[in-house]
Amino acid sequence: MIPFLDLKSPYLELKSEIDDAIARVVGSGWYIGGPEVDQFDADYAAYCETTHAVSVANGLDALHLALLAMDVGPGDEVIVPSNTYIATWLAVNQCGATPVPVEPVDATYNIDPARIEAAITPRTKVILPVHLYGQPADLDPILEIARKHGLQVLEDGAQAHGARYKGRRLGGHGDAVAWSFYPGKNLGALGDGGAITTNDPQIADRIRVLRNYGSRAKYVNEVKGFNSRLDPLQAAVLQVKLRHLDAWNARRKGIAAQYLEGLTGTSLVLPHVPDWADPSWHLFVVRHPQRDALAQRLAAAEIGTLIHYPIPPHRQRAYADAGFADDAFPRAGNMAHEVLSLPIGPHCEREHASRVIESVRKALV
Ligand SMILES: *Cc1c(COP(=O)(O)O)cnc(C)c1O
Repeated sequence: MIPFLDLKSPYLELKSEIDDAIARVVGSGWYIGGPEVDQFDADYAAYCETTHAVSVANGLDALHLALLAMDVGPGDEVIVPSNTYIATWLAVNQCGATPVPVEPVDATYNIDPARIEAAITPRTKVILPVHLYGQPADLDPILEIARKHGLQVLEDGAQAHGARYKGRRLGGHGDAVAWSFYPGKNLGALGDGGAITTNDPQIADRIRVLRNYGSRAKYVNEVKGFNSRLDPLQAAVLQVKLRHLDAWNARRKGIAAQYLEGLTGTSLVLPHVPDWADPSWHLFVVRHPQRDALAQRLAAAEIGTLIHYPIPPHRQRAYADAGFADDAFPRAGNMAHEVLSLPIGPHCEREHASRVIESVRKALV
């Protein structure tokens, strides 16, 4: 059986380092905040080439608190991709604001910069592109539109740790990037975690206050804040895993190269990588009109696949109140019917990828 996702092998490879880190925290007597969290924040900022990283409890909170730090509130609009995981939209609603969906580019699955301006209104505050599947969104035209209209740019980097846009690491291109350390992400904790990176000291400062009950000094509360903290155990584990992120992303890239080569010439639509993109290969997503039949045949060949995502946010019952027609965002709708994610990860072996390629080729004839 080739699993879609293997979360145990990453731990086993780093077992002694991770066990030492956990023992250090457990023995320290310090279980919220403190030096382990500060160290991880410093490490992650350095990695992302930004002046600030502020860790929080999870990726959804990272998006939510970043939007609040950008002054997004009731009555405001935030431009989001129609094709994304629902967290991107939910963070906007959590601020009392409205997500305004924009369709993706067919080739990259990411928000289409050419469609953004038509969605801007006097209520728009922020553009929120997602680096979906670890493929960087085309940031330069987005930043240009934002400058022209006086908007801020928050990126959802939950799937894109370590990816580069035009040679520079994601983290400080826009006003801020929200990250998730959910276990299955490229940089994953042994539980929940998240962070925001930014070069804007005001955004960083606001989030540091918001994540800790709106408090800078103990028992002095400046704003109505939240409890959204990365705990020291996860911070210590993430310090270890961050040291291996580039090497593990390189292994993902190797598997992606193998798939791209081995699946060329089939009826699949393969990932398109623009020359300015260096993806993190969080997912390897192919497209086929008979996706369900393909997935069934692969399951029969004991190959795990998943669909990211089967129902776009505008068709979820959670958004019934927004009154979107089912076919309101046909590109996102079509993608949901055709996309299939093949196994990829730092512990997906070459032989496994070869077997996936062979099985996909057999399933398509
Ligand atoms: C995982 C993910 C999130 C949310 O992260 P959590 O840590 O699970 O809250 C947000 N956006 C995208 C695109 C994601 O993939």
